[in-house]
Order: sequence, then structure tokens, then C-alpha cells
Amino acid sequence: MRVALVNLYRALAERQMLIGSSGNVSARDGVGMLISPTGCEADSLTADDFVKMSLDGSYDGARAPSSEWELHSAIYRAAPNAQVIVHTHSDHATALSCLNRPLPAFHYNVAEFGGEDVRCAGYATFGTPELARLAADAIAGRSACLLANHGMIVHAANNDAALASAIRLEALCRQYLLACSAGQPRMLSREEMNAALARYATYGKKQEII
Ligand SMILES: [Zn+2]
Repeated sequence: MRVALVNLYRALAERQMLIGSSGNVSARDGVGMLISPTGCEADSLTADDFVKMSLDGSYDGARAPSSEWELHSAIYRAAPNAQVIVHTHSDHATALSCLNRPLPAFHYNVAEFGGEDVRCAGYATFGTPELARLAADAIAGRSACLLANHGMIVHAANNDAALASAIRLEALCRQYLLACSAGQPRMLSREEMNAALARYATYGKKQEII
């Protein structure tokens, strides 16, 4: 699991999804989680650097966990289906989060994240329980949310799905901002999004890229 998390972190870095040491990844591990360490660098990260910790914050080991561990912990507590979490400050998701707006129903792929939009959690200082609470509320019933003036977070059933989900959310934010720069995108109607949601439910998550 540790090696798979290193690979996930590096895959995000290779796609310019992580800037400097911003962004972190974790996986549920029994009643706790394994999470990337604070001050994490893709080039030097090793499997041993991942920190095994309980969801209430206790840990052993040489390295301290990511300062955003409570963000991850709150989502594992609130979403039993969350097995892997990716948090990034990827460019376009972060740009949209700075407008304090959700990613709306401008494209049917938005339904992939479980609803008619991807909500934007209100702003709170990084690394605080308040941010963790706001994010858990915003992601409820969905697999992703934006974090105001900060970035994005996704959860998935496994590493590959989490990587794909983060990449697709970043792409959708880019496409939405691009559409907005050219005009006013036509939003899909409630009926159109409900049809897309039903379609995703029918096809299942493995065949979601249509
Ligand atoms: Zn962050």
C-alpha cells in the first residue's frame, strides 16, 4: 500500500497536479489511515515516509503527517466508501475555488462526482478542524469538492480511480473556465443532469469515461 501511494503521489506530480510540496494523498488503513508526510517532495519521497496514524491524530514514526491530516480524517469518518483521498492545488480547480463558486452543470461529466455540481466548501485556514468540517459537509454524497481559495479534494475506491478522478476534475475545471472566457456556457437542465446521473448509475464507475 505504501509503494502504491508513492506511485500515486509521483503520478500527480508528473501531471503538474502538485506544486512544490502542496497536495497530499492518503489511503484508509484499518481503522486509521496512511498519509503523506508534511513537507513532502515527489523526488525524494519513499514508502517509509508515509505516516500511519489514527483518525484522531495520533501517530508513530520519524516524520509528521501532512498538516491537512484532519481534512482526510474527516472525510474517512463521513464517507465509508472513501478508500483513497487526493488533495491538490492543481491550477484550474484552484482558480475556480478562488471565485468561491461550485463547478456547475456545464458538462454531463460533472455528474461523475455524484451530483449536479461539485460544491465549493467555504474558506477556513488550512490545517484546521474548521476546514475539515466544511470539506466533509461539501463532499457529502459526492466524491469531490472544491475548497474555497485553496484547491480541491477527491475520494475514490482505489488509487487508480483517485488519480483518474483528480485528473478529470482538474480537466473539467479547465474546460469550464475556458468556456466562461469565451462566453456564457449553457447549463444543463435538472432533467438533463438527472439523466446523466442515471446513466452513470447504470454503467457503474468502471465505465464512467464515456
Ligand atoms: Zn492544501
